[in-house]
Amino acid sequence: MLGLFEGGNEPPGSLKAISIEWREAIKKNANVSAVRSVPSRSSGSNLCRRCDREVETLVHVLGACPHGELLRNTRHHTVRSTIATALRNKGYSVYEEVHGISNEGSNRRIDIIAFKPPSLEGFITDPTVRFESHEHQPEEVHEEKRNIYEPSISFYKDKYHLEFIVITGLMIGARGTIPRFLVDFCKSFGLQLQHSKAQ
Ligand SMILES: [Zn+2]
Repeated sequence: MLGLFEGGNEPPGSLKAISIEWREAIKKNANVSAVRSVPSRSSGSNLCRRCDREVETLVHVLGACPHGELLRNTRHHTVRSTIATALRNKGYSVYEEVHGISNEGSNRRIDIIAFKPPSLEGFITDPTVRFESHEHQPEEVHEEKRNIYEPSISFYKDKYHLEFIVITGLMIGARGTIPRFLVDFCKSFGLQLQHSKAQ
C-alpha cells in the first residue's frame, strides 16, 4: 500500500533498497499523475472528484482531501509502528504516542520516545508523511519538529528519568520516496526497517 520500503531489485528491507535519491525521486514523479489541474488532461470542472471542494491537484489528493484522511492516518500509523518496532528490535525501550506538557503549559503528543537504560539519553522521533516539494524539505521538517517538541523536553526528561533528549523529525514522501535524511537516521541506529503487515 505504501510503497514505503520498495527499492527496485535490491533485497527488500536493505538500506540500499530504501535509499532512493531525493532529487531523482522528485524529478521522476513530477507532473505525471492524471489529476484535473494538469492542463490537457481535464475537461469541465477542475475541482476534486471526491470532495468537490478544492482544485484537484496531487498535493490536494495525497495531502489534504478529506476522502483520503483515513488512509493518511493509517499510513502515518504504519510508519510510526515500523520505526518503533525496529528500535525495539535493537533493544530500546520504546513508547508511542505519549502525551506531554510544554513549558508554557500547552499539550504535546510525541510519536515515539526511545531509550536504552542505563543510558540517560533519550530519542524523540516524529515521522511525518509530506508531499515532496523541494530538495531541502526533509531538513526543514526536522527543524519544524524540533521547534514543536523542544518546549516539552523537560517534561519527558522527568517522566523517563533522562538527562538528554534528542529530537528528530523524519519526513517520508507522500509519493513513497525515502529521503537520505531518513536513511541516515536508520543507519545511525543500525535499524533494519521491515515492511509492516499491520494495516
Ligand atoms: Zn478532495
